[in-house]
Amino acid sequence: MSREEMRVLGWDALDILFVTGDAYVDHPAFGVALLGRWLTAHGYRVGLVAQPRWQDAEDIARMGRPRLFAGVTAGALDSLLAHYTAFRKKRHDDAYTPGGNAGARPNRACIVYANLVRRAFPGLPVILGGIEASLRRITHYDFWTDALRRSILLDAKADLLIYGMGERAVLETARRCAAGESLADIPGTARIAAPDQLPTDAPVIRLPSHEAMEADPLQLLHATLALERQVHKGDSYAVQSVGTRAVILAPPAAPLSTEEMDRLYGLPFARAAHPSYTAAIPAEEMLRASVTSHRGCGGGCSFCSLALHQGRRISSRSEESILEEVRRMARRPRFSGAISDVGGPTANMWQAHCALGGASCRRASCCHPTPCKSFITPQRRHVALLRAIRDLPGIKHVRVASGIRADLALRDDEAVYAYTKEFTGGQLKVAPEHCSDAVLRLMRKPPLEIFERFLAAFRRNSRQAGREQYVVPYLMSGFPGCTDEDMRELARRLAVRGWKPQQVQCFIPTPGTVATAMFYAGADERGNPLYVARTDAERLRQHRILMPSFGRDTPRKPADGARRPASRHTDLPARRRRGT
Ligand code: SF4
Ligand code: SF4
Repeated sequence: MSREEMRVLGWDALDILFVTGDAYVDHPAFGVALLGRWLTAHGYRVGLVAQPRWQDAEDIARMGRPRLFAGVTAGALDSLLAHYTAFRKKRHDDAYTPGGNAGARPNRACIVYANLVRRAFPGLPVILGGIEASLRRITHYDFWTDALRRSILLDAKADLLIYGMGERAVLETARRCAAGESLADIPGTARIAAPDQLPTDAPVIRLPSHEAMEADPLQLLHATLALERQVHKGDSYAVQSVGTRAVILAPPAAPLSTEEMDRLYGLPFARAAHPSYTAAIPAEEMLRASVTSHRGCGGGCSFCSLALHQGRRISSRSEESILEEVRRMARRPRFSGAISDVGGPTANMWQAHCALGGASCRRASCCHPTPCKSFITPQRRHVALLRAIRDLPGIKHVRVASGIRADLALRDDEAVYAYTKEFTGGQLKVAPEHCSDAVLRLMRKPPLEIFERFLAAFRRNSRQAGREQYVVPYLMSGFPGCTDEDMRELARRLAVRGWKPQQVQCFIPTPGTVATAMFYAGADERGNPLYVARTDAERLRQHRILMPSFGRDTPRKPADGARRPASRHTDLPARRRRGT
């Protein structure tokens, strides 16, 4: 992070400079640390500028011009999601910043940082990556300005965008930059080109143009569904024209094999924030004792960015690699003996895979409407892994904090019993999200009956184990298709059970998801019209049905730069709207 550190390492210059909107935590749960270690292990000299001042380019330039390229990311979250709440109020905290204080990164960080890099190092290739770039790789809906925006590649004027998980693409980019080769057609990347600069020997998915999406909101939905298929299929290009140019998406990078995952997560991470920070970083504290067991999720939930980012194919680490990481953790001074989480996007998908290979599959989810018979999810093996970790010397207990899919756990009674009895710590997070089967279908979540069955098993097992413990249900308001009456029904069901909801999230139409496209288009995946609680007032009304005191004492004014959307569908005939 400094000239002094370069001197200690014996580096006269960097090969690659990363610029990130998060503070630097050298832990495998942080993407920039993961890629930095990966590139370093492959012989590149990588520097990192974390949360630079953006008023001038001084911070960016402090380690000198890198030899190959600058990699720019907003950090672990889209910068607007990091800054604004579901009701477009400014957040005052930021878990990825020392002291947890907001304000250390700009809005639209990728664009701002890309400009800074160009100012500091004219002519240096600028490569975008991370979730903000990945989910904004083609035309997308921007909730915070209530408008469609074209690919972030155009606004950031970047040379390349790495989408999804970047290990393969970033290595190939570095190799080509070093060899002076073209950056075209690297799997897992997008670039701007003339529309005719497409390879002729690979399948191409033609997405609706930016202009077509502006003219017809349904086109955003078609494009998002097509992009989901492109990611899952794995062998096709996708192209979207924007005026006289085109965004060309090479096929996604192949998921890492178990051996590659083991090598990546076995790199010598310090598992700590950079020593220059004087204040604690909340995300670092939260994740310090967590272990990533896999990436990818077969859930395909329509509101989740996973399908377009990590994809549905799951890359798992081997048991031995995970155990070795825990052994190393246990040897560290001041380690408490508690493993806070062993998981991925969904903990109980470790080692899950498609028995058929999956590439030709047309389903959008391996779990919805019911878990696919070919989706192999070895629950007992997962439980055996958790037990093996718990039995290591120096380990007091192991928790599963990243949440489990109830429908998959229910495939194996013994696994449910083990999760309940041994790994919950008194509370288990499950995300039924809603009780209305119509809304759950739109979310691509299992019907309520699955949650009820899981709950019954959880209670029975807790009783048998003589433990008082709870399920913490995650719920969502304001989802496209959800009416006020659906929310009242949910509130009634919770009241019958005597539950006071604690974890209720109002749906945020983040860029790139199918649910966001449904929100924008006012239609379900088949194009049928859908009621959408669109304005802040409508969304707040739904939210308060479950959380009556929510926001009563906060100012109503929207945050600077955030615009309230008009109700786009007030002019639609009443028959096109469902519910209230
Ligand atoms: S199960 Fe969880 S991680 Fe997987 S797609 Fe659904 S919301 Fe995302
Ligand atoms: S066949 Fe089943 S398990 Fe395989 S990708 Fe399709 S839905 Fe998933």
